[in-house]
Amino acid sequence: MDIIVGDHLTKKIDKLKVLEDLTTNVKQIQDDVLEEILTLNSSTKYLQNFFHGRFDKEIFKKNVPVVTYEDVKPYIERVVNGEPSNVLSARPITGFVLSTGTSGGAQKMMPWNEKYLDNLTFMYDLRMHVISNNVEGLEKGKAMMFYFTKLETVTPSGLPARVASSSYLKSNYFKNRPSNWYYTYTSPDEVTLCPDYKQNLYCHLLCGLVQRNEVTRIGSIFASVMVRVIKFLEDSWEELCSNIRSGQLSEWITDIGCRDSVSKVLGGAQPEMANTIENICKQKCWKGIITRLWPKAKYIETIVTGSMAQYVPTLNYYTNDMLPLISTIYASSETQFGLNLNPMCKPEDVSYTFMPNVSYFEFIPVDGDKNDVVDLGDVKLGCSYEAVVTNFSGLYRIRIGDILVVTGFHNKAPQFKFVRRDNVVLSIDLDKTNEEDLFKAVNRAKLALDDSSDLMLVDFTSYADISTVPGHYVVYWEVKDKSQDRKIKKHMELEQETFSKCCLLMEDSLDNVYKICRFKEESVGPLEIKVVCHGTFDSLMDFFISQGAPIGQYKTPRCIKSGKALEVLEKSVVATFFGTG
Ligand code: AMP
Repeated sequence: MDIIVGDHLTKKIDKLKVLEDLTTNVKQIQDDVLEEILTLNSSTKYLQNFFHGRFDKEIFKKNVPVVTYEDVKPYIERVVNGEPSNVLSARPITGFVLSTGTSGGAQKMMPWNEKYLDNLTFMYDLRMHVISNNVEGLEKGKAMMFYFTKLETVTPSGLPARVASSSYLKSNYFKNRPSNWYYTYTSPDEVTLCPDYKQNLYCHLLCGLVQRNEVTRIGSIFASVMVRVIKFLEDSWEELCSNIRSGQLSEWITDIGCRDSVSKVLGGAQPEMANTIENICKQKCWKGIITRLWPKAKYIETIVTGSMAQYVPTLNYYTNDMLPLISTIYASSETQFGLNLNPMCKPEDVSYTFMPNVSYFEFIPVDGDKNDVVDLGDVKLGCSYEAVVTNFSGLYRIRIGDILVVTGFHNKAPQFKFVRRDNVVLSIDLDKTNEEDLFKAVNRAKLALDDSSDLMLVDFTSYADISTVPGHYVVYWEVKDKSQDRKIKKHMELEQETFSKCCLLMEDSLDNVYKICRFKEESVGPLEIKVVCHGTFDSLMDFFISQGAPIGQYKTPRCIKSGKALEVLEKSVVATFFGTG
């Protein structure tokens, strides 16, 4: 598989040719990838369960089951707890990727080795090649990228466990990256590597503002981060300007790496620069603020597909619709999947072309026989699938849980649009709450309501409210008085204490990623209960039926996405509560 290349080789090879080869020989490359994985790993304890001796594609497909994370978790845990890698992988497992998916409330841990970074570097490189073919003049400037590394944990066996982006940023691949414009950032690496989120963000902004006339591209991995960046700027532009004016970094930036490196970027007092930025920021209306502060920026690179699509209007507001929002890559903790080869398209038209060299991909049809799993080379235009991955680090036929639809082909490589994460109802940042989690949370709060008041819950639904920054979960409750059948009309009848407790109980019941986002990273705001008046859920049903929902099978949607349905709820709100009181 000499086609799987890291940066050192891609430099030499014509990238366009690489892309054409990869997308033309999809079936052959996929077969080669599978053969390489099986040859390497046939003696692992996991695969030995299903076959002894020589493995080939046919036997693999017949004997090795399509699994979920739960099925392989016991094997992963054995390595986490110190057994040798070959429980799962012949190549040494050198760490774990913490996924934003959860299992039993805790973050999933995916086995990981250097091959993941080989593939990631390859994808990043190709992505820049695709972008630079579509946008001119980038090489003359720098990228203001809001990259963060999060604190890592260490497994009992002494291996690091981190989110995928941190693994890359902390690796030699990032440290020793080529010194070409692809990888030239406004922030020193010390800022990116600073584990304190606030210091990191402040310094990223400061460096980006001081070099505002050199910034040709702006970005973050997910769009939710870009929105938080602007909110942070709104709260701290005066302080940032004062630092630029004096050439002195605020005292609360205590991280030594940040202090030393950012002081150099500041390069002394710049009162004129500070005045210009201040004049821009002190205007009341922040429409187009990004383009005013960074006038040479040509695009924002950030994922705006899937649950991140909700941030498109906000980002368009801050750029005054002047900057394309580019979603370049679709990846997960298990593997990278594909690249957007048409980066200037609208967010709603983004499709990712799968790269056949990074993992072995299979697809479960969403409609039709679930056992009829097909290869990457055999998916059909217009059909929806869930991806299944066999990778180079010890995962075999694992379901990813993302639903994708085939929208076209680049040569022979299928292009997929991300439809949704299977079963996710609420998501603000990296949190992904499914219907089951939501029910569990509501049921727990419902018991408390039963115990500590005369009220009972009649029905509920929810909404991811991103009109606040950070966004937060809203849960609409219709309640009624148990004893007297009194209709709830007035705020006065509802005990603040009871409902605050219900908010806290719901938050406590949600999974670990929610709790990290909510309490550690503060990328999700406090959960809110909005009590609606009697009959609201009947009106909601009437609304959906008027929209064509089958009356006999109507079920209250547990999450509201449509503006009109939300209006039905909002006009009936009688009281709102937060856990914090
Ligand atoms: P994690 O394993 O925590 O890195 O999360 C990976 C998940 O994030 C994927 O399975 C998708 O659900 C989501 N995701 C990643 N990239 C994209 C993308 N470009 N568009 C939509 N969703 C994405």
